[in-house]
Amino acid sequence: MERRILVVEDEPAVARGLSDAFGFRGFSVTVARDGEEALAAASAGGFDLILLDLMLPKISGFTVLERLRAAGNRTPTIVLTARGEEEDRVRGLATGADDYVVKPFSILELVARVEAQIRRREMDRAPPPALRFGVVEVDLERHRVLRDGVAEELPAREASLLRYLLRHRDRVVSRDELLTEVWEYPTVRGVETRTVDNYVVRLRQKIEPDPERPRVVLTVRGRGYRYGWEG
Ligand code: CA
Repeated sequence: MERRILVVEDEPAVARGLSDAFGFRGFSVTVARDGEEALAAASAGGFDLILLDLMLPKISGFTVLERLRAAGNRTPTIVLTARGEEEDRVRGLATGADDYVVKPFSILELVARVEAQIRRREMDRAPPPALRFGVVEVDLERHRVLRDGVAEELPAREASLLRYLLRHRDRVVSRDELLTEVWEYPTVRGVETRTVDNYVVRLRQKIEPDPERPRVVLTVRGRGYRYGWEG
């Protein structure tokens, strides 16, 4: 299926460059030249991704993003920031951007990041496999756990945590990465890593056949966690 991208950029040359680059790669490209146009186009929906410049006439990119997220629009969004504007990056991610690229950017890098975001969203949409850990059955879609036939709810955050570890089962995942990817914290300062540990304890109590001897979510000392179930 054709992928649709919304380019929000007021500088004509940059907008044209992006439009050409993504059009060449088979994307259907819509360009918005100010914040109002961006809001109208994005709210109409149907985009796989939004490339959002922050400095825009009429309504700033930050406000566009804030309003979209407040309205429940979760379209993956990559923010375009000027070099050295670290605060913009942090604020953009806090506002709900999925990634950011610093201007001037390499078009190849930008394309790679766009592809990565779209892939990630597609994986999120794909129904997760039915999971069975011994006497425990996990339904990640309905957020339900069945232990010896007794149903229990799996809170959304714990489900996301398990889903993330499962998706990256080939490697160890650090606490910082989990905070950024599962909790979507814009910055990690080390103090919040205990949050991850607390959730892991709760998750284990629900999904491990024997929570005292974890086989699904394994602790890797000094590094983080790893999905370990091998059937
Ligand atoms: Ca601009």
